[in-house]
This record gives sequence, C-alpha cells and structure tokens, in this order.
Amino acid sequence: MSRPRKNPVEAPKKSAKETAPISKIRGFKDVLPEEYKYWNLVFKKATELAKVYSFRRIDLPILENQALFDRAGGKTSELVSEELCSFCAKGGEKVGIRPDVLPSLVRSFVEHGVLQPGQISKSFWLGPVLSYDSSQGSRPRQYNQASFDFLGDFGHSADAQLILIAYNFFKELQLDVEVQLNCVGCPECRGQYLKELNEAFKERGRKSKLCNDCKKHLLKNPLRIFDCHEESCSDLANELPPVIDHLCDACHKHFERILEFMDNLSIPYSLNTKLFFVRGYDFWQRVVYEIMPVGETRRHLSLASGGNYPELVSDLGGKSNAACGIAMDLERTISRIRSHNIAVDCGEKVDVFIAQLSENAKQKCMTLFEELRKAGFKVREHFISDSLKGQLDEAERIKAKFSLILGQKEMMDNTILLRDMESGVQETIDIRKLAAELDRRLNII
Ligand SMILES: [Zn+2]
Ligand SMILES: [Zn+2]
Repeated sequence: MSRPRKNPVEAPKKSAKETAPISKIRGFKDVLPEEYKYWNLVFKKATELAKVYSFRRIDLPILENQALFDRAGGKTSELVSEELCSFCAKGGEKVGIRPDVLPSLVRSFVEHGVLQPGQISKSFWLGPVLSYDSSQGSRPRQYNQASFDFLGDFGHSADAQLILIAYNFFKELQLDVEVQLNCVGCPECRGQYLKELNEAFKERGRKSKLCNDCKKHLLKNPLRIFDCHEESCSDLANELPPVIDHLCDACHKHFERILEFMDNLSIPYSLNTKLFFVRGYDFWQRVVYEIMPVGETRRHLSLASGGNYPELVSDLGGKSNAACGIAMDLERTISRIRSHNIAVDCGEKVDVFIAQLSENAKQKCMTLFEELRKAGFKVREHFISDSLKGQLDEAERIKAKFSLILGQKEMMDNTILLRDMESGVQETIDIRKLAAELDRRLNII
C-alpha cells in the first residue's frame, strides 16, 4: 500500500537583501580576462629574467605568525602599525598577511637551514602581498611583487646585478627608468652619523620646524625626517649633513665598487641622500636603491626598491650576515604600461582554429581537436558558440593562422574547409591528409 504523498515543503522566500549582489572589499581589485594580458606580460618577463640570471623560484605562505612581522618591522618601522592586516585565526593564534615578502623569505631560509655561514642562495619569488598603507595612492591593497634576492655571503657584484635585473625588466617592458641610490652605512658608521644628526638638530630653531610626527620620532629614529612628505621637514632634511660624508672605509669601498659596476653597465643613476626607508622598512644597511620612472619625483610611485638587509637576517635567527634583494611593484608597472599606451602583444602564436557547423560536426571536431593537439599543433576552438561568425571572430581575436570549418557536407565527403585567416581564401582539403597539409603550410610561412 502506498503512503499518502505529503505536499513538498516550500523553500522560504529570500528577501531582497539576501539576494542583493555582494561587492568586493574597498581597495581591492578584480583582474578581468581582457586585462590579464598585462599581468601575463610582467609575470613572463620577471620569470624569464629569473631563469637567465639563475635565480631559483620559491613560494611562501601568505599567512605567517604575527610575531614574525613584529620582529621584522622593528620598533620604528611603519610596517606593523600601518600596513599589516592581522587577526586571530580559529585556533586563537595571532597571524598576519604579508605586507612584503622579505620577512617570510628570511623566515623560510632560516627555518630550512639555508642561512648558515658560507651558504649562498639566489631566490626568485612572485606573488601577492597585502598592504593597508593608505599613502600609496591608487594602488590596490593587494598587489603583486617580483622579488630577486641574494641570501648568504656574496661579493660586491650582487647589488649591481639586482639593479641590472630590475633595470632590464623595465627597459624591456619599454618603460624609461632611472636608478636612485644611497649608501646608508653600517652599524659601525651609523652611530657616528646619528650623533652628527643630533648635533645638527641642536641648532637653534631647527626642531621647531619639524612636523609633529617627526618631533615624536626624533629621539627614537631621527632618520625618519628623510622620509617625511611635509614641506618644512623636507626643506630641513636638505640642510642636514649627508650620510655619504660619514661612511666607514668598508661602506665607502662597497658603494664605490657598486657605482663602478653601474658605470660599466651604462645604467643611469643618481645619488639620493634622503633614501633610507624603502618598502616601509628602516632596517637597510650599506646600499639602498629605488627605481623611478624618468622625471618622476613622487617616491610613492617608485617601481622597484631594495637594498641590503643583514639585520633582518640576524633578527630572525639567521647566522649569515649578508643578504640583499630588490622587489618590483607589478601593479605600478602595469599602471605605467597602460597609461603610456604601450602595445602589449598577447605573444602566443596559434596555428589553427577549429570551427563547427552542427551538433554532429561538433563531436567530430572535438576528436579532431585532440588529434591535432597531440600531434603538436597549437590548436584552439570556441565550441560553445554555434554561429560560424562568432567562431571566426574568436579565431581573428586570437590571431590564428588558419581556421578549419566542418559542416554536414564536409562530413559526408570526408573533407574539411581550410581558411587562410590573413587572405580569407578557403580550400577544401581531404581530412585524411589534413595533418600533412597543415604541416606543409605552417612550415612555408
Ligand atoms: Zn659602515
Ligand atoms: Zn615631518
């Protein structure tokens, strides 16, 4: 006996609020398929240069213990206070999303025992970082960096090679750039320089010209004045003794050697004695560098920056005392490429596009697609469209050299139409001889 059927329970109606579209978070960005060619271009260029200069790829987690960023940021850096996005994970531990790759990179090398005396590593990293620093203009909070780093004991040439790689990266993307450099000293000469600065601030009336922030930082880190955007601080910074006049012999020699490399490599550079802080950090020693678009003076639009960070290595438990790196800001690079209307070639050459004219033809075309793909042809399709025009438009868009068109008639005759996409000339080909015919024509061109 069958049981009486119950009325199906009606799903509760959703309110307008429940079905309203949800927007992305403010300050974040979607990269849509039609924009992706720019990202492909810069990712490809960075990866190509890493291979050429033998930097080995490394990937790192996006989340780290907050303690790592607290320690990496030091006491005076803006990193933790202004840029870091941190929260309590489900287990209760405090974690942060990397605002820059360096803390994770050094953490990883220390954890895996790479940063021992005598060891050396050239690493390449490419990925997103998240910075809540609101002073970075229109850049989205999540953006991509490409970072090239030497970790371990290396010679003078490492800094020059990093600058060269970044310079080549931008030049080969058709962007005109120049390098700004500063030698910021080491623990040996920095102490003497800080004493000189303190003396300079004792001069009457000087302190009163400082903005409130710089006044606050004066005791802990008077170098902050060189990073201040306030006009009165910037003017005052011009009157202060430059660090370059207070270097120890080792720093002086190191800087001179780098400049020699730059001259030999014909890389345009200028000295910027106010350059102490880059990427929100103040732990740099010896040499700091920044790559700027030619004619651009607004530092928050720099395209790449880096320097030597031995203190970060020792602060994070590494035994080696040498490390230097440079990171390109890929979003700013792309924004520059777009605003200068630099032509971007999607790069890929497509041999043949397959178009179908019926459901039966579609089945046959899918098999043909696999045969041609396995035979080594660069083959593409747009089977979701049933209109020939829609399919050929796609073939045009991806710049296919030939299109193959299969309809009922061709299926009956065991033939296929071969269309030269440049001339528009169509010929009927015996489908059994198709691979040989494509080979012949592609090799002629
Ligand atoms: Zn020194
Ligand atoms: Zn200031």
